[in-house]
Amino acid sequence: MSDTPTPSLLNDCFLHDRDRLRHDEALEILRTRMSTVTGLETLPLEACAGRILAQEIAAPRDVPLFDNAAVDGYAFRFSDHDPAGGFFRLGARVAAGHPVEGPLAPWSAARIFTGAVMPEGADTVAMQEDCRVSEEGGETFVIVPAGLRAGANRRRAGEDLKAGTPLMAPGQRLRPQDLAALASIGQAEVQVHQRLKVGLFSTGDELRRPGRALAAGGVYDSNFFLLKALAETLPVEIHDLGILPDRRADVEAALAAAAQRCDLLLTTGGASRGEEDHVGAALMSLGHRHMWQLAIKPGRPMMFGQIGTTLLLGLPGNPVAAMVCFLLYGRPVINQLAGGAFLAPQRFAVPAAFSVKGKKPDRREFYRGTLVTGPDGETRVTKFERDGSGLITGLRAADGLIEIPEEVRSVDEGSLVTFLPFSGMGLATA
Ligand code: AMP
Ligand code: MG
Repeated sequence: MSDTPTPSLLNDCFLHDRDRLRHDEALEILRTRMSTVTGLETLPLEACAGRILAQEIAAPRDVPLFDNAAVDGYAFRFSDHDPAGGFFRLGARVAAGHPVEGPLAPWSAARIFTGAVMPEGADTVAMQEDCRVSEEGGETFVIVPAGLRAGANRRRAGEDLKAGTPLMAPGQRLRPQDLAALASIGQAEVQVHQRLKVGLFSTGDELRRPGRALAAGGVYDSNFFLLKALAETLPVEIHDLGILPDRRADVEAALAAAAQRCDLLLTTGGASRGEEDHVGAALMSLGHRHMWQLAIKPGRPMMFGQIGTTLLLGLPGNPVAAMVCFLLYGRPVINQLAGGAFLAPQRFAVPAAFSVKGKKPDRREFYRGTLVTGPDGETRVTKFERDGSGLITGLRAADGLIEIPEEVRSVDEGSLVTFLPFSGMGLATA
C-alpha cells in the first residue's frame, strides 16, 4: 500500500553561492528548507526495523493485561501469612498461559510459574528457592520464609504500559526495543515511511571498482563502499549509479536521468572549482546550486542543490572529507527527507590528550579522535596525528570526531574538547 508522497520541499531561491558558509548556518538552512519526501506504506511488524514511524500509537490496553508472577514459586494472600515465616496448604497449580478459575482457598498457596496469572486473592509470591515443601498426614504443605513484603514478586497489570498511554509519535525511528513494545500491545502492522531512494555517484576518470584492473594513475573507488554503508545505517534504498567520467556532458546526462528516479543524489568528488570538477556546473545548468564552500575542515567543497524536486548533496572526493560531511550533513538530511528528525550527533566534553597551536580562526575543524583510558582511569581523546584528508587509516583508528569551534585558535592538553562518537551517529563499533 502506498500513499502519494508529500511534495518536496525547497524553495529554490535561498542562497546563491555565498562563499564559506559557517557550519551552523549550513545546518540551519538544510534543516529549515526541506521536509519529508517519502510516501507511506503499511508493513508487517517484522519488516519495520530501522523504519520511520508514520502514525501515532497509544497502548490499547494494559501491558501486562493481568497481575502475574515474576518468579517460579508459591503465591499466597499476604494477610494469611505470618511475617515470622509460616506454612500453607499447597493448592492449585498455575502455569503461564493456564490461569485457574476461582479464588485461592483460605490458608493455601498456589504453585505458580513465571508469567502465570495470579490466582484471585493472591498478592504475594515466595521464590521456590526460598521455600520448602513437606508432606504430613497425606497433605502437602509449603513452608514460606520470613521477611517477605506484601506484593513481593508480583508484576502488576499495566506496570509496563497503562491502557491509553501515548506510546510513539510519527517521525521516530523504530529500534529493536520499539518493535518489542509494538508487539507487546498486539500491533501486527505499522504505517511507516517508504525508504528514501538515494542515488550514489562516484566521479573521476582515475577511479575503478575493486575487481577491475587499475589504469596508470588509477585509484580504487573507496567512497562508494564508504557512503553506501554509511547511508544504509538510515532507512534508504541505494541505487548504485556507478562512476562518472570527468566529462561535463556525461555528468549532466547521468544526473538528469538519476533525478527522475531518486529522491536524493549523493555524489563524491568533482565538487571543487577545478577544470575537472563538473558536478557543480552540471547542477547549475540542470537545476539550482543552493550552497557550497563551507567554512569547515575537512570538507570545504560541499555542495547542496536540487534538480527538479530531487536534492543533490555533493560531497568532497577525499575519503575523510566525504565521511565527515556525510555524518555532519548527509545523515540529518537523509533522515529528515525520510520522515524523521534532523539528527544531531551526540556530543561529549572529553579532556584532550593532545595540543594544537595556530589553528585558523573562522572555520570549524573536525579531527579524527580515539578514546584512551590512562592508568589513572581517566578517559581522554587523542587526535590522529596526520592531517591528510585521504587517509582512511585515520578514519579506522578513530572512535569519533573532535570538534574545534571557529573562534578557537589553540587547544591545551588536558582542556575539555567536544567529542562526537561515531556510535552517536549511527555507526557500529569495531
Ligand atoms: P576531487 O574532489 O574529484 O578533486 O577528488 C579529490 C581527491 O579524492 C582525489 O585525490 C581523488 O582521486 C579522490 N577521490 C575522489 N573520489 C574518490 C572515490 N570515490 N574513492 C576514493 N578516492 C576518491
Ligand atoms: Mg575528481
